[in-house]
Amino acid sequence: MNRFSDPSVDTTGKDERTECPYCASTNTEREHPKGPSLCRSMHYCHDCNQPFEKFE
Ligand SMILES: [Zn+2]
Repeated sequence: MNRFSDPSVDTTGKDERTECPYCASTNTEREHPKGPSLCRSMHYCHDCNQPFEKFE
């Protein structure tokens, strides 16, 4: 009877959604860095179909 949505139902561990700097979409995927870049991470936007970097 008591039906409500659980906000953590679709969260498995850490789900880091980075906002795309081009279209502000959160439909992004984190990619593994190829080089020894420890202070930045590579992401890929599925809406723009192009990668972007995020500095941490
Ligand atoms: Zn985008």
